[in-house]
Amino acid sequence: APATTIGGLPVTVEPTTSPLTDAARAERMRDPGFGRVFSEHMLTIRWTREGGWQEARLTPYGPLALDPATSALHYGQSVFEGFKVYRGADGSVAAFRPEANAERFRASARRLCLPELPVEVFTEAVDLLVGHDHAWVPSAPGQTLYVRPLLFASEPELVVRPSEECLFVLTAFVAADYFPRGLTPVTVWVADHFVRAAPGGTGAAKCAANYAAGLAAQAEAAEQGCDQVVFLDAVERRWVEELGGMNLLFVYGGDVPRLVTPALTGTLLPGITRDSLLTLARDLGMEVEEGRVSVEDWEADARSGALTEVFACGTAAVLTPVGRVRREGAEWVVGDGDTGPVTAALRERLLAVQTGAVPDEHGWRRVV
Ligand code: PMP
Repeated sequence: APATTIGGLPVTVEPTTSPLTDAARAERMRDPGFGRVFSEHMLTIRWTREGGWQEARLTPYGPLALDPATSALHYGQSVFEGFKVYRGADGSVAAFRPEANAERFRASARRLCLPELPVEVFTEAVDLLVGHDHAWVPSAPGQTLYVRPLLFASEPELVVRPSEECLFVLTAFVAADYFPRGLTPVTVWVADHFVRAAPGGTGAAKCAANYAAGLAAQAEAAEQGCDQVVFLDAVERRWVEELGGMNLLFVYGGDVPRLVTPALTGTLLPGITRDSLLTLARDLGMEVEEGRVSVEDWEADARSGALTEVFACGTAAVLTPVGRVRREGAEWVVGDGDTGPVTAALRERLLAVQTGAVPDEHGWRRVV
């Protein structure tokens, strides 16, 4: 029977009256890119300061009608999330750690003075949407259904203050591998002139403005022939924080590899892939340290050979090796510039968990 409530909220279900044929869907899924090919439904929930969370609606995917004075468009009071739904080798479909995204969504909302959506509403909304659009979970290798929750200030009034009305919108799109080159190492550019986040700012929140603020640095990286940008801390301008959309892990190889990743100081996003990999690395007997890495040590340790591998991790690309680093006046290679064994082992292990190829020891798969 169709759900009548999600996390205690009533829901109305108005499915599309013109569903795509299997052939039409397959054609659309052939070359999905990223964030371009959406599934057929979406789920929306309105919030008002007076009435709280209103009835949820599952409707056909389509445009929203917004007043030009919609507050979020002007002042950026907007947060979002991203996680993937994987189809396993046995055909099972499971979201990877959506509860963790639900918690981070609440934390981001708190920082932006937006209302906090209860975790059960979030996860049961995902169950409902993915349940309806099950056919959109790809079975092609590397393809997944990426779920995108969004919450923004929808009040049509331009006073600068927390909005009295908000809209939660849940959509999902088909995602091919984020980096089309797969496990080919990327070259990163160290941003010496642009800052992503400062102490007391919004760096730990997944808010729209952080991404807008990073675009110029990303453009500079591209001009320098690099794939991604590395942000440093805002105060001393030497501590490595993260990439524009991924966390960084440093591998000091040896009989027992030691992994070091920047601690969650409040100026970087607490990645769920990062957290998962730290856990899996410990499971595999590696040493794990949340600390700090300076850009000077990155260069010196790469040159001495003590630092054997560096990789970036995040939902979209899972895990990507960093082969080469460039900044103004310097360039260095990590290891031999190729994918190292620890990077490869962790990527394989994480993908095995995500696709259900190995037992789910940590309870990370939410079968839909
Ligand atoms: N840092 C930033 C700035 C990001 O946008 C992302 C992607 N959400 C990450 C790190 C990685 O987080 P996650 O592993 O949860 O995708």
